[in-house]
Formats: sequence, C-alpha cells, structure tokens
Amino acid sequence: MRILVVDDNPIHRASAETTLSGHEVVIISDYVSAEKTINIEHFDAVLIDLLMPVGSLAWTTKAKKALSQFLNQEMPIGWALALLAALRGTKYVAIVSDDGHHDHPASSTLDYLCYEYGHEDRRFNVNGTRLLLFNGMSKHPLKCTDCDGTEHRVPTPDLCQTCSGRGSVFINGKNWGQALEHLLDNTEWWKRDG
Ligand SMILES: [Zn+2]
Repeated sequence: MRILVVDDNPIHRASAETTLSGHEVVIISDYVSAEKTINIEHFDAVLIDLLMPVGSLAWTTKAKKALSQFLNQEMPIGWALALLAALRGTKYVAIVSDDGHHDHPASSTLDYLCYEYGHEDRRFNVNGTRLLLFNGMSKHPLKCTDCDGTEHRVPTPDLCQTCSGRGSVFINGKNWGQALEHLLDNTEWWKRDG
C-alpha cells in the first residue's frame, strides 16, 4: 500500500519505517507540507499525529504575519488533515496520538471516540473513508535481541529475563503498523461478550 505518515516527532517517524516495512511509506513532519501533499498525491492510507506545529513559513503568507507566533506551537490540528485526506478519497485514515488522556486535554477529547477501548462500533465512515482514532499509542514491539525472539535463555529452558519470556520488547515510537491493521480489520470484536 502507499501510505502517508505525518508526525513532528522523529521517534515516531522512525517507527513508521519499521512498523510499516513492506509498504511504500512517505513521511512528513509538518502540517503545511502534509496539506500540500494530500492535495496533490494519492495514498491508500494516511496516518496522522493529533498534535503538531503548523511548522512552515508558508503559513505566514497563507494566513497573516501576526499568526507567526503559533508556528512552533503544538496544536490539535491532525483532525483537519484527516478530513482533507477523506475529502481527497483516501480509503483508510487514522489519527494516532501518543498522549494518553492524563497527558494532554486534546488527547482526552478522543476518550469516547477511540477504536480500541469502546464496546461499540467506532469505525467512522466519512464520505466512504474509514476513519479510526487512537490515543496513548507511544510504543511498538521489537524482537528481543537477547533471546532472538525465542523467549528462552538459550541453551537453558529458563525464560528470557530481558523480555520476560515475551520474545519482544516494547520501545518508544508509535505502532503505526497496528493502526493500519485495525483500519483493515473487518471483525466486529466489540459485539463479543465479556
Ligand atoms: Zn528475550
């Protein structure tokens, strides 16, 4: 798939490379460049951070110079890019915040909208685009290098202490791959009992 990822944090841009490997991934770090790219290029999926700075001097001519004080300020503007991507016909769109609801008030506004925590269908259909929202997504799994994913302290049968026998460790950087998996998932798990 051809995927656009928009995030101002270099750690989350790096995890886009690893968690979306196998796809053609375009990565952008600021609002203005993303807006321009979404308007002229086609993507199968667009995955967007919630909070980011507007981030380009182009904004000062587009808006007014007086607004330049907001240039480097993080604001919850991922919404606008998500709706623009829907308007331009992107089939799958997600807003992915690394903050939880205790970290930032903008993330707490997603509490009743987040895909993973509800017991109702929270897959939004916007003009035929599937839109999912996530908050508190700050880490992704990486194969444990101490046990090479075997979960054991080779050659003993003891569990690997580094990964507590999980075979993988969680490191900083959003799990964009998981967001994409959820976007493509058609099971209705929220209807299950318990
Ligand atoms: Zn291990």
